[in-house]
Amino acid sequence: MEMRNLRDALDHILDAVGRHEIVGLGIELAKLRTSSQSAPAAGSSSVIIAVPMSNQVVVIGGGVMGSALAYWLTRLDPSTAVTVVERDPSYTCASSALSAASIRQQFSTPVNVRISQASIAFLRNAAVELGFDHERPDIVLREHGYLYLAGVDGAAHLRRIHAVHKACGSDVALLDRAGLEERFGWLNTADLSVGSLGLSGEGWFDGYALLMAFARKARRQGARYVNAAVSALAIDGNRVTEVILSDGSRIGCSHVVNAAGPWARRVAAMAGVELPVFARRRTVYVIACPTRMHPFPLTIDPTGFWIRPEGGKFIAGFSPDDDVDEQPLQPDYDAFESRLWPALAHRIPAFEAARLERAWAGYFELNTLDHNAILGPHESLENLLFMNGFSGHGMQQAPVVGRAIAELILHGRFTTLDLSELSFSRIAENRPLHELNVIG
Ligand SMILES: Cc1cc2nc3c(=O)[nH]c(=O)nc-3n(C[C@H](O)[C@H](O)[C@H](O)COP(=O)(O)OP(=O)(O)OC[C@H]3O[C@@H](n4cnc5c(N)ncnc54)[C@H](O)[C@@H]3O)c2cc1C
Repeated sequence: MEMRNLRDALDHILDAVGRHEIVGLGIELAKLRTSSQSAPAAGSSSVIIAVPMSNQVVVIGGGVMGSALAYWLTRLDPSTAVTVVERDPSYTCASSALSAASIRQQFSTPVNVRISQASIAFLRNAAVELGFDHERPDIVLREHGYLYLAGVDGAAHLRRIHAVHKACGSDVALLDRAGLEERFGWLNTADLSVGSLGLSGEGWFDGYALLMAFARKARRQGARYVNAAVSALAIDGNRVTEVILSDGSRIGCSHVVNAAGPWARRVAAMAGVELPVFARRRTVYVIACPTRMHPFPLTIDPTGFWIRPEGGKFIAGFSPDDDVDEQPLQPDYDAFESRLWPALAHRIPAFEAARLERAWAGYFELNTLDHNAILGPHESLENLLFMNGFSGHGMQQAPVVGRAIAELILHGRFTTLDLSELSFSRIAENRPLHELNVIG
């Protein structure tokens, strides 16, 4: 019965992950805690935070994370006052506007697989979920799969991770060389051993459309967007009391959420918190190829590059060797010739005749500890919450993470998916939860 009440019409998310993955409900939710109540016992795996009587939530950053959170807060409890502070409403440098916006189930960390299972369910239903009046946002979801390739060296790793996916109930298949050749005639399989193909629940979508849909619906539900830069946080004891803007004005808060993407470390530093999140430039190359190749999933080469179709063309990228913090957002054109094209043409011979059309660059918000999200409250500053460090998989996680952080704020604990493994405490305690399948 309690379960039923909490489902609040989001059956598709809950059904997607299965009953066993849903956190225990009932007891703690029935008695919302106030800030004077004590913290959970040491060793408790769940994140539980204090819930003040009246919620005045300030979200720093209005990218897909901040906007997903604003949407969920105002949807789950319309009485919540939500202010999103965004310094650049044109999102020129925001990762959410520069993303490759692809979604996969194939992670090495089971909690990420569960997030993807719930996320794809949300994305399939986004037009309804995020629509209003006669507007039905189209995020152009294309479920064409991911294909991870491995040579002899990487085969054992791929098989191990495949077992994780199977255990999580993902719809993935292992293909040997013959299987790869049969399905994807355009691949050079000479030096390949095995491929892992997502048969459903993986693909890509329009990330900017998703960002806009979250932001519009959040506004519609009462969230306030303020065009300003946050320059400082006022702290009293173990709480952030005010968010201070660059013009000196102040916003009082019951909770502050760091949703500043690649700039999250700076925002954390405003509270004296060290966050291992760094802005790492990634170039996305737009490539034209005269040969028609179909089907064509998002393909990850053993050398590390990724490529997928986009419109009538392709987009591709890779993780650079010189991964320096906060390089200017100029695409690295030289690397196309020196690194990407040779590897591409080796794996897909049709790309001998490919042409680079243009490129753009954005920042990954890289969590250098373990390449996974950092979620929830700081250990001692109890009303400062993080949703940072997604390391290249934040766009696909936004629908679920937005809801999870809203639950922490409104209920003091996760009430759908238990994401406590991703909590801030692992950073403070140096307990990494390594994600091994990091792309680009
Ligand atoms: C090239 C590239 C490819 C990617 N591909 C994928 C992919 O295929 N799949 C996937 O899931 N993810 C992908 N990602 C990652 C994904 O896009 C990000 O994880 C996600 O967009 C992060 O969203 P965000 O809202 O946290 O950050 P952002 O979108 O960067 O938003 C943060 C916002 O905070 C604002 N801000 C910062 N500091 C302040 C301040 N002091 N005051 C006020 N406002 C502030 C900024 O202006 C910005 O708008 C990719 C990213 C890049 C760059």
